[in-house]
Amino acid sequence: MIGMYGISLVAGDGIGPELADAAEAALGAACSAAGVGMRVTRVAAGDAALEAEGAALPARSLEAIRASDACLKAPVGESARDVIVFLRRELDLYANIRPARSYPGMPALREDIDLVIVRENTEDVYTGGEVDLGDAGVALRTVSSAASERIARCAFEEARARGGRRRVTCVHKSNVMRVTDGIFSRACARVASGYGDVEFDEMYVDACAMNLVREPQKFDVIVTTNMFGDILSDESAQVAGGLGMAPAANIGDSAALFEPVHGAAFDIAGTRSANPSSIILSACMMLDWLARTRRDARCAEASSRLSSAVRSMVASGARTRDVGGSLSTSEFADGVASRAA
Ligand code: ATP
Repeated sequence: MIGMYGISLVAGDGIGPELADAAEAALGAACSAAGVGMRVTRVAAGDAALEAEGAALPARSLEAIRASDACLKAPVGESARDVIVFLRRELDLYANIRPARSYPGMPALREDIDLVIVRENTEDVYTGGEVDLGDAGVALRTVSSAASERIARCAFEEARARGGRRRVTCVHKSNVMRVTDGIFSRACARVASGYGDVEFDEMYVDACAMNLVREPQKFDVIVTTNMFGDILSDESAQVAGGLGMAPAANIGDSAALFEPVHGAAFDIAGTRSANPSSIILSACMMLDWLARTRRDARCAEASSRLSSAVRSMVASGARTRDVGGSLSTSEFADGVASRAA
């Protein structure tokens, strides 16, 4: 059957399993309505897998993720590094795309925020290159021209695809880290010269952190290195309405993994209050990616059904606790599923 997709689903830890159930229900409804065949296979990974099987990412889980068309992942707990950082490197998921959009009536700083952070996912201090010298420690920061140009192209393509303000802001700290961020900013400027239809500017990371609070509506696409992107995307998520509404994609040339920006939120695990929008909107990004890479308009329709359902739920005031409502995780997901059907 054309359009029968195999999706690996990591339920994870903390609020992860509640989010995975919610996503599966909402995704199933939208896909049936749009005529998309989807087979979801649960894959063990995270603290629970470590406890039960002795590995945070058992070999057969990695195989199942590789064999699937895409992976949807709920957050994992303490073993996150052994799961997500490993998968990003193993599958060469070099682009971490983190949109931050505010919805009318939500507890956001402004109602007109619509930006996306394109974060380099394979280099920087996250490669684990740390040396323990006893009373001191050294972290190695790797930034290459090749990886920087690759992520810059991704950011410019994103700006074109969004079709809005068409602006890419390169965020770095090259006045201090002259070598590494010098390479990054020069690579971005080189790529910019091939995109005459997209505006390009640069900003130091500290100024960017301030401007995300002062005038977040002015940003379109931010491209940055791994750690800056990690920090700025939590900030922009909060500015736009909270981590509960923040989806993300990890994209490579031949594989992709979609997951919320937030972690396992152990503080609210089991309270049935987690906002599943983050993972449902991540599922939308997954459907958009399938639509683009498989040229399947039905996936685009399923995505649009899901995102409209989330928007209409929050607009009607039917929300979870983190964004001013009282619905439980499953009540919110059921509402999304019935609107998407
Ligand atoms: P990590 O370092 O793994 O990203 P963290 O320690 O930064 O994790 P998170 O798990 O991301 O913490 O949670 C940060 C805060 O946001 C917590 O108070 C948590 O309850 C809240 N939070 C995160 N996700 C959600 C969600 N989906 N719904 C409601 N609240 C959430």
